[in-house]
Amino acid sequence: MELPKGLIPMPSSRFIKVKCIDCGNEQIVFNKPATKVRCHVCGATLVEPTGGKGIIKAKIVEVLE
Ligand SMILES: [Zn+2]
Repeated sequence: MELPKGLIPMPSSRFIKVKCIDCGNEQIVFNKPATKVRCHVCGATLVEPTGGKGIIKAKIVEVLE
């Protein structure tokens, strides 16, 4: 989905690298997902959607620009 720059209401959308607390798997996730994001390895919930900024339930390793 492409939006013109300047029309995005919440510009804090980011991709972040997180580490699963349960298994240590690192993966890139969106911090405002529309659906629950699960660990690819063990299936633990990494990000819960809230309609706005997601709730991160994993260890944040790095925030990508
Ligand atoms: Zn995991």
